[in-house]
Amino acid sequence: MADDATPRFPAIDLPAAPSADDWAPRTRMVRGGMTRSAFSETSEALYLNSGFVYGSAEEAEASFNGEADRYVYSRFRNPTIEVFETRLALVEGAKYCRATSSGMAAVFAALACTVQAGDRVVASRALFGSCRHIIAEILPTWGVEVEFVHGPDLAAWEGALSKPTTAVFIETPSNPTLEIIDLPRVCDLAHAAGAKVMVDNVFATPILQRPLTLGADVVIYSATKHIDGQGRCLGGAVLTDDEEWFTDRLALFLRHTGPCLSPFNAWVLAKGLETLDLRVDRHCANALDLARFLETRVGMGVARVLYPGLASHPQHDTAMRQMKAGGSIVAVELEGGKDAAFAFLNALRLIDISNNLGDAKSLACHPATTTHASLPDEEKAAQGLTPGLLRLSVGLEDAGDLIRDVERALG
Ligand SMILES: *Cc1c(COP(=O)(O)O)cnc(C)c1O
Repeated sequence: MADDATPRFPAIDLPAAPSADDWAPRTRMVRGGMTRSAFSETSEALYLNSGFVYGSAEEAEASFNGEADRYVYSRFRNPTIEVFETRLALVEGAKYCRATSSGMAAVFAALACTVQAGDRVVASRALFGSCRHIIAEILPTWGVEVEFVHGPDLAAWEGALSKPTTAVFIETPSNPTLEIIDLPRVCDLAHAAGAKVMVDNVFATPILQRPLTLGADVVIYSATKHIDGQGRCLGGAVLTDDEEWFTDRLALFLRHTGPCLSPFNAWVLAKGLETLDLRVDRHCANALDLARFLETRVGMGVARVLYPGLASHPQHDTAMRQMKAGGSIVAVELEGGKDAAFAFLNALRLIDISNNLGDAKSLACHPATTTHASLPDEEKAAQGLTPGLLRLSVGLEDAGDLIRDVERALG
């Protein structure tokens, strides 16, 4: 029997790894943030604990007054959550990252720690439903002035940003109509108005678009989508290079309001990052194949296909300037409105009907009656969210099987 106080397998002195700063992105995804416990495990350990213990009352005191840099409580910091945060920060090329319990917790924290009564927020109008709810419904009750802008319209941004503004919130590509916003141009206008630019980068992923390199100040993810990518758990993250905002605003807000990620979910998401670029490449290749097939059916049941990787997309050039590929989402409008859209969904045999996206499994939904059902009709019309519009989240299956499923459902 081993002595209670002695580890059975004493720590091995592993050679120090070269600095992650010198690693290529692929290496960062696999090894970024890796720490090993005294047991020298291969894969990341899962620290599924809420609290930590102290060797003395003095050590506890030093931990709380900030003299000792150590773990105190998993709402503040946790070793497994830090592996995910460090890895994602390395992939994004950001200095700071904080994980949250969901994408919406990340969006809410980023905005709520930034704005106060009397401030002004300008946002693109085509947003994920809950992002729109925070900006359109919650912020105004706090005395924040809010203005929405048609994302691709630079003149509209110029007008809205002619007044001092605190924050600009952008989603590009947007959900579900895949509008592209010119990030460098809008960031310049926003900075001239004094605003911090926050980009919800869920549709693009850090593989396809790195907003901080295009002028943004804050990048937000729902890690539930491509970062997990296999339908297992919820999570979110906020990233920035702005040390003052991160330390004095975001980190304090998260610590004291508590939307922390579970260590288990952090572990799943850190493992998800190891294969993110491989999966996103396949998502994009499949989505492009499917979009090209759907384009051959325009006028034969299909009214229009929206995919940033197609030359027919209204902002294709902007998309290709700031994104590496078109992404995993294809929007398709069917001739025949809601009836045709429902008949198509009900005829699918492989692709599932689901409002999730970025999953290994291909998923389809009818935004007008599900994800965007709460929008007033005139707002739906303004966003091009017609009754015949479907959103396809293209997964990792064989592209031929997906095309056959869609072809049959169109028939
Ligand atoms: C899913 C999603 C969110 C919200 O993320 P959750 O993890 O579901 O809270 C925010 N923005 C976009 C663009 C999304 O697709």
